[in-house]
Amino acid sequence: MPIDFNLTAEQKALQRSAREFARSVLVQVAPATRYLATPEQRFLATRPMFEQAIRAGFLRRLIPAPFGGGGSGVLDMAVVAEEFHAVDVNVSLTLFANLLGLMPLFLAGTPDQHARYLAPFLQTSGAPLAALANSEPGGSANFAAPAPGEGVRTRAVLEGEEWVISGAKQWVSAATGWDGSGADLLCVVCRTDPEAPPERAISVLLVPKPERGLIHDGSADSMGHRAHLTPRFRLDRVRVPRDSVVGGVGAGKALVEASFSGTAALVGIMSVGVMRAAFDFALDFARSERRGGTEPIIRHQAVGYALGEAKTAIEAARYLAWKACHAVDTNAAGALELSLHSKIFGSETAVRVITELMKVVGVDSYDHRLPLAGLLQDALALPLFDGGNMGVRRRQLHEILLGGGYDPLTASASA
Ligand SMILES: Cc1cc2nc3c(=O)[nH]c(=O)nc-3n(C[C@H](O)[C@H](O)[C@H](O)COP(=O)(O)OP(=O)(O)OC[C@H]3O[C@@H](n4cnc5c(N)ncnc54)[C@H](O)[C@@H]3O)c2cc1C
Repeated sequence: MPIDFNLTAEQKALQRSAREFARSVLVQVAPATRYLATPEQRFLATRPMFEQAIRAGFLRRLIPAPFGGGGSGVLDMAVVAEEFHAVDVNVSLTLFANLLGLMPLFLAGTPDQHARYLAPFLQTSGAPLAALANSEPGGSANFAAPAPGEGVRTRAVLEGEEWVISGAKQWVSAATGWDGSGADLLCVVCRTDPEAPPERAISVLLVPKPERGLIHDGSADSMGHRAHLTPRFRLDRVRVPRDSVVGGVGAGKALVEASFSGTAALVGIMSVGVMRAAFDFALDFARSERRGGTEPIIRHQAVGYALGEAKTAIEAARYLAWKACHAVDTNAAGALELSLHSKIFGSETAVRVITELMKVVGVDSYDHRLPLAGLLQDALALPLFDGGNMGVRRRQLHEILLGGGYDPLTASASA
């Protein structure tokens, strides 16, 4: 049986509809947001496009079937993520951050929690937002560090039949919602036992838009992803019922790590989307521009070779990401390793390839009138977010390599 990299008929249809949607709707994000002054204004201006994505069923379609959606797994998400990211990273990341926000529920929620919290995300109307709130001011790479490391500093204390949550978070996608009052659902990573070792000290608490206690302190003025909101906010004695813990009290470390597992492969494919946009522009430029010379610049060998190498990298990153997504979907033994390769390789390749393509286009690429500078700014987030490659992802890979029974062929054999 040969290796088959074909998508199913359903995935090809999904790819077509995602491509069409991106080219007709997401293409409007840049002109609608470019000249707005604040991150909040830019984010709010994406709401109509986000609502259209919800109406077109992209969130519902990607929520895994066992929870009432139409998705068959991470590979379906990857098909949409590549098409969306090739046109606009902002609304695309808002959509995929929603799926990350719901991930703890998918992985460890009870049937009762699914019934209570998932309904708004299965609708094809409105603009529902969910977020996984892990990152904190002062750093989160060591969120599960043992003492004397601080790890997660947000605290949840049981008072009678309620958890009372206090702490600060930052960089959490769309966490303060469209109007600063909070996303529809936050999965907040909290310390529930200050004495216990990390494996039993951390819990994930479900926080639907609280009536009081969520304070929006401003948002990152990020160099890329300019219309995607990454706010700073505090939780000041926010109260939720005792049964709001997802996956059990103290089970948060494993749940957070598992939630960020499939997303690593998705960052690999998001990287492909951004590179694709840069490549398409540079190819077109090289075919059509003579730059005062006698022939289109693609005829110069240096230019042709650079374009060829960029395309090689894009193809390699795509198949690695697909393989990693497939391994996650089939629960293969090498799934985490492949996802980490996909995240690290894809994200760093994107930064390198876009930089090389800027050299192909030359000095005009340095002007925001052309898209490459903006694409590079967006791409620079890829190695940094979803667990930075230096502080989180390479460390996870290192841990796998250090494992006593590590077999290098396990990942390659993952089917
Ligand atoms: C657009 C965007 C969206 C985001 N969305 C979310 C979200 O929805 N939810 C969320 O929780 N977060 C989100 N983040 C934050 C993101 O996930 C970060 O990856 C996360 O906060 C960890 O950052 P860091 O890896 O830089 O860790 P930090 O703790 O800030 O570490 C900083 C640096 O210290 C060094 N370092 C620290 N510890 C170690 C170590 N043990 N070993 C080696 N080096 C170390 C590394 O050089 C590392 O880069 C988002 C970020 C962006 C840009």
